Amino acid sequence: MGVTDCHVHISPVDEMRPEPLEMLGVRLSELRSVMENPAEFLAILDRADVERAVIINYLSPRVIGYTERVNEFSSRYARADPSRLIATGGIEPDHPDPKHEITRLVREMGIRAIKLHPPHQLFYPNDYLEGRPYPRLRDIYATAEELGVPIIFHTGTSVFPLARNRFGEPLFLDDVAVDFPELTIVLAHAGRPLWMEQASFLTRRFPNVWLELSGIPPRRLPIYLPRLAELSSKTLFGTDWPGPGVQDLGENFRAFRALGLPPDVQRAILEENPKKVFRPE
Ligand SMILES: [Zn+2]
Repeated sequence: MGVTDCHVHISPVDEMRPEPLEMLGVRLSELRSVMENPAEFLAILDRADVERAVIINYLSPRVIGYTERVNEFSSRYARADPSRLIATGGIEPDHPDPKHEITRLVREMGIRAIKLHPPHQLFYPNDYLEGRPYPRLRDIYATAEELGVPIIFHTGTSVFPLARNRFGEPLFLDDVAVDFPELTIVLAHAGRPLWMEQASFLTRRFPNVWLELSGIPPRRLPIYLPRLAELSSKTLFGTDWPGPGVQDLGENFRAFRALGLPPDVQRAILEENPKKVFRPE
């Protein structure tokens, strides 16, 4: 069984606003080429001995600059090899017709997971509750639940200039997991660096909530999540490449393996669990 990287940012860099773009710095020309050529990215996966990757794309017109065009990009990119590239797409919390839109993304565009980024989309995951500003979030969750499509939530902080970090607190997903018990919820970044205990609690409490480790330097995982091995049947690994601080995708995997977790724990996290959450084509 092969390894899955559950979190890579293959996204149209030219859609980004100037400030977040600047954070990618000198690597921009190299990255632009990978973002335009799926074959180059597949070669990176080959060198790292990674079978599959989840291509993260989401909407964030105000904070990052990503508009609905990213869904088209994600869909087209993954079509280069759908057995290895798993496309995700986004939707805004006030979309007028989430049921139609998510069904279209999944059925017509081959989108296999929805990514929502509360600190970059400026909403709380439970903002559908009575009197709150985004009642249509309920339709987003219900539709994903009905179609069996996972929703990946960014949890934890973001250092991009206009991000609002209060929206990154995992505990607001407690309501979502209670109200949509069949919805598969992935807690990207495990609430790092402020809320790992909340993320671990939700993962233990709800059968359909998964902990995802991307964006945490692997050597610091034992400090952030000392009880990681106990949660291994509910945990996924991702690199967050090429996010700030992640220079090399393969090196990130080597650092994870170097933690010396028991072989069955590593196999669950790197190989088996991703195939339960992101089913093979
Ligand atoms: Zn990310």
